Amino acid sequence: MSDTDKGKTIAERLVHLRAELPVGVELVAVSKFQPVESLQAAYDTGQRAFGESRVKELLEKIPLLPSDICWHFIGHLQTNKVKDLVGKTFMIQSVDSERLLALIDSESRKKGLTTDVLLQVHIAEEETKFGFSLVELEERFDADFKGRYPNVRIRGLMSMATNTDDEEKIRKEFAAVANLFNILKERGGGEDFILLSLGMSDDWPIAVEEGANLVRIGSAIFGPRV
Ligand SMILES: *Cc1c(COP(=O)(O)O)cnc(C)c1O
Repeated sequence: MSDTDKGKTIAERLVHLRAELPVGVELVAVSKFQPVESLQAAYDTGQRAFGESRVKELLEKIPLLPSDICWHFIGHLQTNKVKDLVGKTFMIQSVDSERLLALIDSESRKKGLTTDVLLQVHIAEEETKFGFSLVELEERFDADFKGRYPNVRIRGLMSMATNTDDEEKIRKEFAAVANLFNILKERGGGEDFILLSLGMSDDWPIAVEEGANLVRIGSAIFGPRV
């Protein structure tokens, strides 16, 4: 967060951020590790989309906050937590393997639901980040891919850039995901396949320039995680 933002309230930072985001770019306020009071302060400014990265934390927060919040799950989802999560989210952005996709699909079917998801693309240098590789998705996401998972709706792609100050590197990574997004969309992504979730507190302006229409911003709104 910039020094000028440090003295501001959550509401002030959100209002400022929304004014900077171009029309058509949706903001998910990443509230992981933040207390419910902070989420409520964001909610009171009109924010409805929140992002959480741990199932347990999300399930604890849901009953403490208004019921019209759209919860985006953005963390690595362990297969044994799928049944706890399905039915609780507006969207699962972090589907990082076909095995996980299949599990979300079957759990959704059991519950009589359709779950909105994004496929996570691994583009960053860090081995600790998860996701499909560009090549893997380009190969596997054929016309039949979606049909295999009737109880999930694949809405687009999500990715994280390498954690670096090298803006050109970040830009290249985002551009590569945006390019794949356009290819898959052409290839039968269908009318549901419209979301490109790129960009966090430090790199969202680059992401938006490269075509992101969903940004996930945490610390620039809430301050450091507690
Ligand atoms: C934590 C997190 C964010 C938000 O990070 P900030 O740097 O705090 O904006 C965005 N996306 C994912 C997947 C995250 O885990």
